[in-house]
Amino acid sequence: MYKAVVTGADLLHIEKEREVLSGIAEIIEDKSNNREELVSLISNADAIMIDVDTILDRELLSSCKNLKVVVEYGGGVDNIDIRACTEFGIYVCNVPDIFVNEVSEFTIGLIFSIGKEITRASIDVKQKGIWNANNYVPRLFSEKTLGIIGFGRIGQKIARLSYSFFNNILVYDPYASIDESEFVNLKIVNFEEILKNSDILSINVPLNELTRGLLGAQEFKKMKNGVFLVNTSRGAVIDEKSIIRYLSNGKVTGAGLDVSAIEPIKRDNPLLLMENVIITPHMAWKSEDSKLRIELAVANTVKDVLTGKKPVNLINKELLNKG
Ligand code: NAD
Repeated sequence: MYKAVVTGADLLHIEKEREVLSGIAEIIEDKSNNREELVSLISNADAIMIDVDTILDRELLSSCKNLKVVVEYGGGVDNIDIRACTEFGIYVCNVPDIFVNEVSEFTIGLIFSIGKEITRASIDVKQKGIWNANNYVPRLFSEKTLGIIGFGRIGQKIARLSYSFFNNILVYDPYASIDESEFVNLKIVNFEEILKNSDILSINVPLNELTRGLLGAQEFKKMKNGVFLVNTSRGAVIDEKSIIRYLSNGKVTGAGLDVSAIEPIKRDNPLLLMENVIITPHMAWKSEDSKLRIELAVANTVKDVLTGKKPVNLINKELLNKG
C-alpha cells in the first residue's frame, strides 16, 4: 500500500478521498504545522497532496525517498520547487480546471464592487451613518476599457462574462495563441498598450520567476490616471510597495485584492486602512461544492500516477520523455 501525505489543506471530504484511493494508498494528514514533523511524514511518502500555503522546497523534497508525485489543491504551483521535482523525477500535477467559473465570477464581483463603489458606500451607510449618494461615482462600464493581463482559463472566462457590459476589452498574454474573432469586443495588445489604456485591470497570470513583481513602479507610472486594479491571481505579481504608493497618491483609484504577497495579510499592512481597497482572504476559488470537486480531483490524480496512468495535468511534462 502506498502512502499519500496531505499537507496544508483542511480536508472536508477526506472519506471521499479515501474511497478514491482505497486499496491503493493510505492517506495521512499532516496537521503539525511543523517542518520537522512534515519531514518525518514525507520521508517515505509516495505522494504529497499540498495546498498553496505550504512551501515544498528543495530541502524538503530531497528528504523524500519514495516520492513519485506532488499534487496541488488548485492551479497555482508557485509553492513547489518544480525544478527540484523534475531533477528528482517527481511528477508535479495540479487541477487547474476546477475553479475557472468560481474565480472568474468572483473577479467580476470585485470589478463591480470597486468600480461601482458598492463596498465603500455600504461601509459608509452601515458603519459611519453617512447617507449621501453625492459621495460616490459608480463608473459606467459601457464607456470604460477592461484590461486582462494573462489570457488563460480564467482570463478567457472573464472576457466571456464581461463583454456585455464592457464595449472595449484589451488582452495581453505573450504566450497564448488567441483568436480575437472567438471573442466579442476584444483586442489583443502589447504590455505598454494595456497599461496605458485600461480603466480597470484584471491580473490573471501564474506566479513564477517572470511574473513576480510584474506590476512595479515603472508599470504603475504608465497606467491611466484613476485606474482600478483587480488581482485574483497571486499577491506577489504586484509589487506591494508600489501599489500602496500609487493608491495613496490617487493614480490608482481602487483595488480589489483576493490575494496578498504574504498570506494571511499582516495586520499592519497599510492596504487594510485604505477605504478604496477591498481585500478578501484568497477565497475566489470557493463555491458551495468547489471543495468537494477539488478534493476528488486531487485524489484521482494521485490514483492515476500511482496506478501507472498518465496524469491529466502534468506540469513537468519533460519527465514523460525520460520514460
Ligand atoms: P492558466 O495557466 O490557464 O493561464 C495563465 C495565463 O497567463 C496563460 O495563458 C499564460 O500564457 C499567461 N501568462 C504567463 N505569464 C504571463 C505574463 N508575463 N504576461 C501575461 N500573461 C502571462 O491559469 P488560470 O487557470 O487562468 O489561473 C491563473 C492564476 O490564477 C493561477 O496561476 C493561480 O495563481 C490563480 N488562481 C487563483 C485562485 C484564487 O482563489 N484566487 C484560484 C485559482 C487560480
